[in-house]
Amino acid sequence: MHDLLIRDATLVDGSGGPRRRADVAVEGGRITAVGDLGGAAARRVLDAAGLVVAPGFIDSHTHDDRLLLEPPLRHPKLLQGVTTVVTGNCGVSLAPLVTPSPPPPLDLMGADAWRFARFADYIAALEAERPAVNALPLVGHTTLRVGAMADLDRAANDAEIARMQAALAEALAAGAAGLSTGVYYPPARAATTAELVAVGRPLAGHGLVTMHIRDEADAIDAAMAEALAVGRALDVDLVLSHHKLMGRAQHGRSRETLAMLERAAATQRVCIDCYPYAASSTVLLPERVAMSTDVQITWCHNEPAVAGRRLRELAADRGVAPEELAARLQPAGAIYFAMDEGDVERILAHPLAMVGSDGLPHDVQPHPRLWGSFPRVLAHYARERRLFDLETAVHKMTGLTARRFGLVDRGLVAPGGCADLVPFDADRVQDRARFDDPRAAPEGIPWVVVNGRVAVEQGEVVDLHAGRVLRRVH
Ligand SMILES: [Zn+2]
Repeated sequence: MHDLLIRDATLVDGSGGPRRRADVAVEGGRITAVGDLGGAAARRVLDAAGLVVAPGFIDSHTHDDRLLLEPPLRHPKLLQGVTTVVTGNCGVSLAPLVTPSPPPPLDLMGADAWRFARFADYIAALEAERPAVNALPLVGHTTLRVGAMADLDRAANDAEIARMQAALAEALAAGAAGLSTGVYYPPARAATTAELVAVGRPLAGHGLVTMHIRDEADAIDAAMAEALAVGRALDVDLVLSHHKLMGRAQHGRSRETLAMLERAAATQRVCIDCYPYAASSTVLLPERVAMSTDVQITWCHNEPAVAGRRLRELAADRGVAPEELAARLQPAGAIYFAMDEGDVERILAHPLAMVGSDGLPHDVQPHPRLWGSFPRVLAHYARERRLFDLETAVHKMTGLTARRFGLVDRGLVAPGGCADLVPFDADRVQDRARFDDPRAAPEGIPWVVVNGRVAVEQGEVVDLHAGRVLRRVH
C-alpha cells in the first residue's frame, strides 16, 4: 500500500530525455517506483490521464528569504508548481544582520524583518516554521558588508574581511548553500575583486557563488570577466545571475556574452540563471531611466498610490523630467523595459541557462515574474514559440538546476528521489500574471506534491508546511 500513486501520467522526468507513459508511487516522502504499476494500491490516487508529471520546479533565483517565514495561502511559488527555492540572491540575504534601517536594495524584503544575528538563527526559524516549499539558502555579501562595515563607500580592510569571513563560515556551518554577491548595488559597489575573493575564502575548492555582476550594460564584458575571475580564484561552482543586456545600445550582444560564457565553461564550472521576460525589476534608480523605453513603479514609500504607474506618464502629468521624478520618489522600486526579446530567447534557450524567477514578493505592484515565470516558460516559450521542446523546458527548471546546486535527490522523477512532483496540463498551462495584473495565478497546474504531501489541490493551496531546509551536497 503506497502513500500516493499518480496514475496514467505522461512522465517528463527532468533529465531532458523523452517523455514516456508511467505511474509514480510515493512512500514516506520518497519516490518508490516509476513505470507501469498495474493494480498497485495507495491511500491516495491522483488520476493524471492527459497530464504531464514533472519533478517539482526549482526556482534557482529568489528573494524569498522572508516569504518562507510568512507564507501566504495564495502562494506565488507553490501555485506555479515550484517546490524548491534558492534564496538570498544578489548579495541580499535576510541573515546574518540585525538592523532597523536596511539600506537599498536590502529593503526589498522590508525594513522590519532584520532580526537574525546569526545565520543559524534564521535556519532555526525556518525549521520551526516548516516552510511551504523547500529552501536552499545563500548568504549575501552585501548583508555581510552592512553588518561588518561602518563605511560602505570603500573596500573592506583586513579586520572587516576577517569579520565577513567568520560570518560566512558560521553561515556555511549552519547550512547556507554558498555566497551571493551584488556589487552592482551601492552598498557593495566599492568592493574590489580582491575583497570578493578574500571574503569567499571559506568556500575555496568546494563552494558555490552566485553573482549579480557589476554591470549589465556597456561594461558587461568587464563585469563578466570579473565574476569569472572570482570563480576561478576560489575554484567554486559559479552562477551568473539573471543574465541579460540592458539598454538599446546592448541589444543583440547576447551572442557575444554567451560565446564568452561558453569559452569560460570549457575550463571552469559556470552557468547562468534567467527569467522569461524582456523587462527587469529592482529598486528605482534614476540612472536606469534613460536606458529604458518605459519604467513602471512597483512600490514607493512616500507615495504608495503611485505603485503601478508608468514613470514617464506620471512625470508628464506633474510637468517634471522622468529622472527628476525618479529622484524625488526615493526610496522606491521599478520595472525597466530595457531588454531585447531576441536576447531573452537566445539566453533562455542556451544549454547553460536555468530558469529563475527573481520575483520580488514584497513589492506592492510586483513584476509578473513573481507569479508567472515557470508557466510562462512552458506556455509561451515551449508551446507557442517552440523555442525548445517540453522536455528541455522542464530540464531547465528541474534536473539541470538540481545538479548545479548540489541537490542530489531532487530534480528528477526516479526511484529513491524525494517526492516533489507537479502534474500539469501541457496544452492548457498558462501564466496569467501581467504587468497591469501581476498577481493573477497561473492555470493548468491542478496539483503540487512537496516531499510526498499534496500541497496544492485543484489549484488551491492545502498545505503550507510540507517544505524543508535543504543542504547542498558537494
Ligand atoms: Zn540581482
